[in-house]
Amino acid sequence: MEELNNTIQGGASHARDIYIYNESAAEEADALRGLKVAFQTLGCKLNFAETSSLRDELMRCGARPAEKNETADVCIVNTCSVTDVADQKCRQAIRRLTRQHPGAFVLVMGCYAQLKAQEIAGFDGVDLVLGMEQKGMVAQMLRERLASRRAEMKGEACHEAIAVPTKDIRTFVPSCSCGDRTRYFLKVQDGCNYYCTYCTIPMARGRSRNGSIASLVAQAEDAAARGGKEIVITGVNIGDFGHSTGETFLDLIRALDRVEGIERYRISSIEPNLLSDDIISFCASSRAFMPHFHLPLQSGSDDVLRLMHRHYDTALFARRVERIHELMPDAFIGVDVIVGTRGETEAFFEDSYRFIESLGISQLHVFSYSERPGTKALNIPHAVPPAEKHERSQRLLELSRRKHEAFYERYIGATRPVLWEHGKGEGLLRGFTDNYIRVEQAPALAVADNSITPVRLAAMAQATGEDEPCLRGTHI
Ligand code: SF4
Repeated sequence: MEELNNTIQGGASHARDIYIYNESAAEEADALRGLKVAFQTLGCKLNFAETSSLRDELMRCGARPAEKNETADVCIVNTCSVTDVADQKCRQAIRRLTRQHPGAFVLVMGCYAQLKAQEIAGFDGVDLVLGMEQKGMVAQMLRERLASRRAEMKGEACHEAIAVPTKDIRTFVPSCSCGDRTRYFLKVQDGCNYYCTYCTIPMARGRSRNGSIASLVAQAEDAAARGGKEIVITGVNIGDFGHSTGETFLDLIRALDRVEGIERYRISSIEPNLLSDDIISFCASSRAFMPHFHLPLQSGSDDVLRLMHRHYDTALFARRVERIHELMPDAFIGVDVIVGTRGETEAFFEDSYRFIESLGISQLHVFSYSERPGTKALNIPHAVPPAEKHERSQRLLELSRRKHEAFYERYIGATRPVLWEHGKGEGLLRGFTDNYIRVEQAPALAVADNSITPVRLAAMAQATGEDEPCLRGTHI
């Protein structure tokens, strides 16, 4: 085994923006020109947005994506550590890439990289592991390390880790990526100060920090100039926006709403205690914020919410849902729930189920609890057996299916605007209404990709290639 190099650097004393879209990138393009780069991303939308921005940056520097059957010069793995399974998938991805691309420079970044930098640096074929504080420096690191590997390591893997302790992570790396031709993901915030007992995110992503409103508006304007019509506002705990800049989430959405050319915004997920009445009122009266919310409830039992150290109770959550309905009666409300957390007794789960059943919500995203080293939840007695977890999860998924279909049925025969995107099937377009109903183009409906058209919604169907329901869009 080659020697393991590990560099721990001191953190900066205050937050700062690193602008990926910089002029100097073009000047320094030569070192990366012509490199074939293979990317692998695991985990959440934030990771995908970050990889996508990194890909854009490297392409601007003259690199290009490796084709399917090509041996890459550089492999970049953006990792996730949300569960044990996620860690395992990251290790598999690293092994697969090192086998598929022998001799490639392998760089690993992301949440798992921050938590296990030294361990990953020791894996066969891994050259460089970058922690969260360094993830905006990939291009610069590649220029330096590729040259030194050729000169000093004679092509052998470098096994180097560069990470600061999580408490010292300060940098906000901006990212505005295009998921497809129509929808952009704008990262406005990173990190979290909440420390829910089951969650490792604060350990991996660090304290809450954000971009400035001015820089985020500039990125939204850039997305509009590139033809983007819809922006999904993403982050780890976006309602907590403003720690680094003294601004507020409400100021941010007011400013974004004024960006010409962006016709739709969606807020990816916001903590219920941070979704103030002012934010709901603004969205209801705004030009471009869609009637669509995604709220992490996690449990409908107050006892379990206390064990989780969540910052609200079920009464507050129910009030938020009611307020949304009062001001936006057509709003789609998606809700995250975790089943089988430590301490979730059968009685607590039944309380939770009844509460969720009583809510006027449109869909549940059900996650099974996974034990994570270093979390406070491990001290809570009563671990839920896997079979029980599975059964609870199935009951909630069935409840979700009923609520989802009931929401869709309300709109059969109604006319709503749809933003059309590429479909999976040949020539078939699909899209979402303003209130997040999935729609597929009926064969006779002539619509253009990346256009917003009013359509009459008809007949429930299964979306092509997916488990989710959808409606057919017909002529009005
Ligand atoms: S709010 Fe809680 S669950 Fe969400 S990222 Fe922060 S600590 Fe994790």
